Amino acid sequence: LSTFAKMADQNKERTFIMVKPDGVQRGLVGEIMKRFENRGYKLVACKMCTPTKAHLEEHYRDLKSKGFFAGLIEYMSSGPVVAMVWEGKEAVKMGRMMLGATNPLQSNPGTIRGDFCIDVGRNICHGSDSVESGKRESEHWFKDGEIQEWSPAQSKWVYE
Ligand code: UDP
Ligand code: MG
Repeated sequence: LSTFAKMADQNKERTFIMVKPDGVQRGLVGEIMKRFENRGYKLVACKMCTPTKAHLEEHYRDLKSKGFFAGLIEYMSSGPVVAMVWEGKEAVKMGRMMLGATNPLQSNPGTIRGDFCIDVGRNICHGSDSVESGKRESEHWFKDGEIQEWSPAQSKWVYE
C-alpha cells in the first residue's frame, strides 16, 4: 500500500446519522448535512424513507424495555426521515459531539440539538453511539450497493 492508501484506510470509520421526522418537517435536512460536509466528513449513503415500526423496533432494540419506547417508535414512524452514512476519522465520536446530548436542554449551543431543539422526544437527529452500532445501523438501513466507495478530491486537504 502507498502511504496515501494507508492513510486513507485509517479514515474509514462509519457512523449512521438520521434526520428524524421532526427535523425533516422543520426543514433542517440541509443544515444537518451541511455541518458534516463542512467538517470534512464524506457522505457515502443517503436516502429519504418512511421506516416501518418493525424496522425501527430493530434499530432501537436496546431500548425495548424503556418507558418511552412505544412513543419513540410512534414518533419515528410518523413521517419520512433522511438516513445517511458518513465516513471519516473518528466519525462516530465526532458525530455524537456534533449532535449534542440526547436531551437538548443539556446540549451545548453550537451542537445540532443545542441549536435547534428543546424536548428529548423531539431531538431532530440520530447518531450511532459506537463503532459497532455504526456498522450495525449502516447495514440495517442500507443494502451493500447503496453505500458508495469514492475518493473526494479534497481528501488530501482534509487529512495530513
Ligand atoms: N428518548 C426519549 N426519552 C428519553 C430518552 C430517549 O424520548 O428519556 C428518545 C430520544 O429521541 C433519543 C432516542 O429515544 O434520541 C434514543 O435514545 P438514546 O438513549 O439512544 O439517545 P441518543 O443515542 O439518540 O442520543
Ligand atoms: Mg442511541
